[in-house]
Amino acid sequence: MKKGKLIVISAPSGTGKTTIIRQILKSFPEIIFSVSATTRIRREDEVEGKHYYFISEEEFKKKIENNEFVEWGKFYDYYYGTYKSIVEDLINQGKSIILEIDVNGALNLKKIYPDAVLIYIVPPSIEELARRLKNRNTEGKSDLQKRVERATMELSFKDEFDYLVENIDLEKALKKTKFLIKNIIKKEI
Ligand code: 5GP
Repeated sequence: MKKGKLIVISAPSGTGKTTIIRQILKSFPEIIFSVSATTRIRREDEVEGKHYYFISEEEFKKKIENNEFVEWGKFYDYYYGTYKSIVEDLINQGKSIILEIDVNGALNLKKIYPDAVLIYIVPPSIEELARRLKNRNTEGKSDLQKRVERATMELSFKDEFDYLVENIDLEKALKKTKFLIKNIIKKEI
């Protein structure tokens, strides 16, 4: 059977990535979202097993030891990781997967799965990103500062991605991402 495609979408938080992914999943019901594990606290609108598997740091560390993650990273004191079993099972069943992971995770994944397609959603500017994050108001002030610093670091890796999508206008960014994904799953690009 033909293996499924791995599509990675990375972007600093506050770039509209979550909105874009939500729309993509609606438009392409055949694509499955890879649910990561995290030690971060669940936000109010998040659902266990749908957005993340929320686990303790102790459990997370055990899973690292047991080699259960295909890649993992630590940011702002929290761990995030992609389950190897989820990725392997789905691609072996011929299903395409979207992974919403950070830049380092994306580049690490590409080393293991060279055919993975990496898409980076670029914010208009760091200033605009900081403004959006502040409006979103899901993080405390010090977390917000850390997220802005992290975004600056992440942006320096954007050229290592296969495709860049600028999110100045959400509708346009969405259209471009959909176009890319449509072609990726048809394997024209
Ligand atoms: P958030 O806390 O906003 O949900 O996510 C913070 C960062 O962690 C985002 O950049 C998100 O893409 C990244 N992330 C989520 N899941 C994973 C994962 O499994 N692996 C890695 N490396 N990063 C992840």
